[in-house]
Amino acid sequence: MFKNYINGEWVGGSQIYRNINPSDTRDLIGEYALADASQVLEAISAAAKIQEKWGLSTPQQRFDILDAAGAEILARRNELGDLLAREEGKTLPEAIGEVARAGNIFKFFAAEALRTGGETLPSVRPGVGVEVTREPVGVVGLITPWNFPIAIPAWKIAPALAYGNTVVFKPAELVPGSAWALADILHRAGLPAGVFNLVMGRGSEVGQILVEDKRVQAISFTGSVATGQRIAQACVARRAKFQLEMGGKNPMIVLDDAELDVAVGAAVNSGFFSAGQRCTASSRLIVTQGIHDRFVTELVRKIESLKVDDARKAGTDIGPVVDERQLAQDLEYIAIGKAEGAKLVTGGQAFGKNPDGAPGHYLRPALFTETSPSMRINREEIFGPVVSVIRARDYDEALALANDTEFGLSAGIATTSLKFATHFKRHSQAGMVMVNLPTAGVDYHVPFGGRKGSSYGPREQGRYAAEFYTTVKTSYTSG
Ligand code: ADP
Repeated sequence: MFKNYINGEWVGGSQIYRNINPSDTRDLIGEYALADASQVLEAISAAAKIQEKWGLSTPQQRFDILDAAGAEILARRNELGDLLAREEGKTLPEAIGEVARAGNIFKFFAAEALRTGGETLPSVRPGVGVEVTREPVGVVGLITPWNFPIAIPAWKIAPALAYGNTVVFKPAELVPGSAWALADILHRAGLPAGVFNLVMGRGSEVGQILVEDKRVQAISFTGSVATGQRIAQACVARRAKFQLEMGGKNPMIVLDDAELDVAVGAAVNSGFFSAGQRCTASSRLIVTQGIHDRFVTELVRKIESLKVDDARKAGTDIGPVVDERQLAQDLEYIAIGKAEGAKLVTGGQAFGKNPDGAPGHYLRPALFTETSPSMRINREEIFGPVVSVIRARDYDEALALANDTEFGLSAGIATTSLKFATHFKRHSQAGMVMVNLPTAGVDYHVPFGGRKGSSYGPREQGRYAAEFYTTVKTSYTSG
């Protein structure tokens, strides 16, 4: 049994979670202990007790630990990537890439621990000096989703520790394997007991306790809109700091002047890679009249050539979706799209077994055309390999359609026009804008986050992470 990590010790539990491979549901990856309420409270106590001491640890100490963790993650990227692909279902190259990203994030924040500084200013009063410094927030609760089992934990845990906070980490139920491996690496990297704690379990139990406990000064959450809203209310009620990354309904515009292969390549990647299970995936392709038919023909050809198979098999383009619940949601939206009058031009069929006969949650990538912006498939996040094409008259209408959503995480445009690309970067209501690139796939050293209903609070990643994981102090000295 893989145990929880509380106050520097591995502790078992009376209940277990069976981690199953979505590419082959006969494959049990391992049994993981579920933390009970008293263990979560113990983890919070341990984190609270050591926080002040960890907050005063030297930048060198934090650098050494985070850098060692990053180096181990990078050195083991193939093995950890295999585990990740096995428990989540993204392809092996994608999974290895995600692990490398996690390793690089630890290395980035190791260096940031050395660079954390402040400002010294003269006061407006004579003989007085002013210093502006950053201090840790305290104990932070980190709640993560299943779609990036190691990168999202890394981009929360690494800055939290780098800036002197202590951590209670609750990973998603579906992917405890990568989270456990990360805890094991951090344990061996030399963190003092209590600085980092892993509590695996259900959101409604373990997550809820973290969100409600007064000793947890900040919550960083990535997940669904509904849970994010609940967390926001609980945090406001007890005046905790919080940061939310939630859904997306990311648009990608394709203009008449786009290079067809660039546009199709970006659309296939954005919409279908990782089985469409990325918050930055593009599920709305907004295509202008002059290129519409050529683009759709070429896109369908490309989609039909994608190999949907076991995530870890060489040559697989798209693995299974993560579990039955997600598959049911995808199929439900496909039925809704048909009922709304959209034209399903390819895909959308579930198949329960891969070509080797392994039972898994497989779904052929689906494309709808002739859709209208008000359809539910164009307004609600599906989170699967299901994409719609919306026709637009011209750039102006395409821009208006792109922004006509309650979300605002990422947005893309395929065009060879500098004028339209520049205009789109300025007028898109998204936190991240991509020109001639997929809407998903971002760097690890720059801010990540959205606007409108997608995100709340300061950005994650890069140097901007300091806004969330530190609190500012202004000191005045006379003499
Ligand atoms: P998804 O539909 O992608 O699973 P969720 O928002 O349900 O999205 O889950 C994201 C994370 O939030 C998971 O770690 C989950 O366990 C956790 N979670 C779910 N419900 C709650 C809750 N009421 N309080 C705190 N965390 C929760």
